[in-house]
Amino acid sequence: MTDLQKKASEALKTAALNESAKDYLLNNPQLFALLLKAVKRYIGGENMEQAISRAKEINHENLPTSLEFMGESVYNTREAREVTEEFLTLVNRVKTEHINSIVSLDLSHIGLAIDKGLAFENITSLAKATRPNDIELVISAEGVERTDDIIDIFCRLSPDFANIGLTLQAYLYRTPKDLERILKETQGKIRMVKGAFATPEGHSIPRGKTLDRTYLQLVETLLVNKRRCSIATHHDRIQDEVITLLNKHQTPPSDYEFEMLLGIREDLLRKLYAAGHPCRQYIVYGKEWYLYLCNRIAENPENLFQAVVDIVA
Ligand SMILES: Cc1cc2nc3c(=O)[nH]c(=O)nc-3n(C[C@H](O)[C@H](O)[C@H](O)COP(=O)(O)OP(=O)(O)OC[C@H]3O[C@@H](n4cnc5c(N)ncnc54)[C@H](O)[C@@H]3O)c2cc1C
Repeated sequence: MTDLQKKASEALKTAALNESAKDYLLNNPQLFALLLKAVKRYIGGENMEQAISRAKEINHENLPTSLEFMGESVYNTREAREVTEEFLTLVNRVKTEHINSIVSLDLSHIGLAIDKGLAFENITSLAKATRPNDIELVISAEGVERTDDIIDIFCRLSPDFANIGLTLQAYLYRTPKDLERILKETQGKIRMVKGAFATPEGHSIPRGKTLDRTYLQLVETLLVNKRRCSIATHHDRIQDEVITLLNKHQTPPSDYEFEMLLGIREDLLRKLYAAGHPCRQYIVYGKEWYLYLCNRIAENPENLFQAVVDIVA
């Protein structure tokens, strides 16, 4: 990335967390409709129905999916409960319609921004609903100010629920230490991502060789410890190096998967699948796609040109 692209990327990550910009967009139908055209390639739809039919299409290609009702930072208890209900319905539909999918979610979407106890209560009700059906539920990683709470909740919940997983961000300096604790205290899948949120100074490794090395070291720790994991990156070089690690540690297909976001480098996911690796397509849906769009463009500023093309097409 050039310096200007890096600055644009940081600005977009900051804009993504701007609550008033999000409210303005949600309350402005013309702007909403315009940007919706740009985000469509990255989302499964604006509602559960559309997302489920997209998941079924992808399942037809023999690819399992991960479904997420998009959103975070809910500050109203009633809304946090409604979101939990949405996830309960989603889990139920995945089960009854035999969709080959797991479910992913942000804890701040179901109460963490209000009260840690409320988030624990809501995630526990979801964990109970998913357990008998073995539907996996993977907790997303959020801004660094929430990392302690998210890891604490996962560590409390995990001993009772093997079907609950957690996402870890390789870019946080703290993650190798967090992983030590997680390997000791928990079970369940670990999804490894680089990290999408802007952080305060001194908390994260910028994109580049050091982060790539750290990402691979964390993945290798998971493989050595035989912990089931998701390699969640669109970075082809990292994927290739992970394949070398998988061979080195003779990791069986049941212990790993490659997971990628809808609309991004889908060619790579299909190439990995054709080469015999377990692969999963991540599908988000909902109306709160503002942060999501900002993050996808921030990761690859060239996507801004794609967005302009999509808007005028
Ligand atoms: C399944 C999944 C779940 C995730 N969950 C979380 C989460 O819970 N919390 C969190 O903080 N982050 C999450 N992320 C996002 C993640 O942290 C990264 O921001 C994102 O994956 C981009 O990093 P990268 O490793 O893919 O590639 P980067 O290092 O950003 O880029 C490497 C290369 O990948 C390609 N690429 C990357 N992004 C794009 C893009 N948007 N468009 C086109 N090409 C691209 C380009 O070729 C680029 O040169 C998730 C990602 C995935 C795949």
